[in-house]
Amino acid sequence: MSTASKIYDFVIIGSGIGGLISAVLLAMEGKSVMVLEKNHQIGGSLQVFSRDKRVFDTGVHYIGSLDEGENLYQIFKYVGILDDLNMYRMGDDCYDLIRLADGSSFKHGQGYEQFKKGLYTDFPDEKEAIDQFCDKLQEYCSYFPLYNLEMYDPAKKNYIDSPDLLTLSGWDFVTSITSNKKMQSVLLGNGHLYAGDYKRTPFFVVALIMNSYLKGSYRMVDGGSQIAKALQKRLRQLGGEVLKHQEVIGAVSDEQGIVAVSTKVGDIFHGKNFISNVHPRQTVKMFGEERFRPAYMKRLENLKDTVSSFMLYLSLEEDRFPFLNHNVYAYANDNVWDSVEYNSETWPQAMFICTPPSKNQNDFATSLSVMCYMDFSEVKRWESSFNTVSISDGRDETYHAFKKRKEEQVICKLEEIYPDIRSAIKGVYSSTPLTYRDYIGTENGSLYGIEKDVNTIMISKMHAKTKLPNVYQTGQNLVFHGILGASIGALVTCFHFLDEKELIERIKSA
Ligand SMILES: Cc1cc2nc3c(=O)[nH]c(=O)nc-3n(C[C@H](O)[C@H](O)[C@H](O)COP(=O)(O)OP(=O)(O)OC[C@H]3O[C@@H](n4cnc5c(N)ncnc54)[C@H](O)[C@@H]3O)c2cc1C
Repeated sequence: MSTASKIYDFVIIGSGIGGLISAVLLAMEGKSVMVLEKNHQIGGSLQVFSRDKRVFDTGVHYIGSLDEGENLYQIFKYVGILDDLNMYRMGDDCYDLIRLADGSSFKHGQGYEQFKKGLYTDFPDEKEAIDQFCDKLQEYCSYFPLYNLEMYDPAKKNYIDSPDLLTLSGWDFVTSITSNKKMQSVLLGNGHLYAGDYKRTPFFVVALIMNSYLKGSYRMVDGGSQIAKALQKRLRQLGGEVLKHQEVIGAVSDEQGIVAVSTKVGDIFHGKNFISNVHPRQTVKMFGEERFRPAYMKRLENLKDTVSSFMLYLSLEEDRFPFLNHNVYAYANDNVWDSVEYNSETWPQAMFICTPPSKNQNDFATSLSVMCYMDFSEVKRWESSFNTVSISDGRDETYHAFKKRKEEQVICKLEEIYPDIRSAIKGVYSSTPLTYRDYIGTENGSLYGIEKDVNTIMISKMHAKTKLPNVYQTGQNLVFHGILGASIGALVTCFHFLDEKELIERIKSA
């Protein structure tokens, strides 16, 4: 067993966006930082892979709040990566297209004005509901000070002092402002972004996420991994390090508490503080369940994770299928928020479809990706197998046959929308909940980590500080998921070490 002798100010476990942003923020303040990543590739859900000379995103497909001056733009600017990013702005009049079961389709335009304008045209009798929806989105966002890069101010209404704000259901709100079923479906049509479920999803989740996409939706040219690479480059410039193939499996303690973490390959990394960028259930396992309160362990056990997904990746023949500068959310069922608990006979009822941009993007797409909800139970029979680029015990033929079957089901559904698509396909690839489990390290390949449920909202609240004095958490489970959510989570974590007011001011004026 080798032992790295250096004692880092911070050892960060996991190189997802939350871990990397935390690392850079701390390194910018002169702290020594080591990031440990289990995989061959850094970035967590920002990882990409390549087939047929096309780059495919495994997770992130588009990112919001990237217009100049918006919150994520400011965070990226402050950490110094903005100039390294090759971003592709999505269509102004349509960044998301909602296609309903009857084949009708409706545009979501960027910016509240454009969004309303498009919907007023399609739903002239629903002007009031559209306005109410937009006003409520903005009102709810104003209750989250950090989301607006503001300090908590008790004089202003906020979710901290009024936690009941968190219990408004997204579905209840929308069905209260309009009885027009089509309108309801269109307003909530990009629910894949947060795995919208009519029984559970809170309105604040809809607001924080939809608002961010209305404030500047962009895709990353040739993949989102460039964000992780830019953060790694920045970290190195600041003297920090990222080590791959370092899966943390345990912690070392003395009478003072946790002093080091140990990794699967037998290395030990000493630190003054530890930040876990992995799911809270994995965090307690790494640091020793016996070190946490039984009540906390029980709470973690009872928390439900969001559903997982099946992704279909198609490489396309040259000049055969149009490049779509918007995503398509296509539904085969009437209630768009009834797709998470899908019927496996008629799966997939809901598809997120996108054509990722590549360098020198022209009018034609070179690839197409489709995301469909899939529960882990569908792949449970292969759960004892493990497969990543660096570690693989293979998966058997029955798994590959299952994947082929599912690929075919999705392609058939795609043909209902794009009748000629099959002839444009060059290669077919896919990933399942097992892929996400193995690459991200969650138990069930969950899309967005711990689910926010209006019925149990307070128990899903995670804190950056754990019971162990020098062990902290960051990432999508802290505030909310997504690149924006996990970046804001990194700020929350770093406020334990850096002056909150100063940091917010510096980010705002970056
Ligand atoms: C299919 C899919 C589509 C998505 N689409 C979008 C989108 O379009 N836009 C958007 O904004 N968001 C999207 N998201 C959500 C977004 O990607 C995540 O919320 C966000 O990236 C999570 O970041 P994180 O910081 O929590 O870390 P994660 O990305 O979860 O990364 C955690 C890291 O920790 C590592 N790790 C785990 N265990 C260990 C260990 N023991 N030792 C060392 N390392 C370990 C993992 O390998 C991983 O690199 C999508 C997610 C998925 C899965």
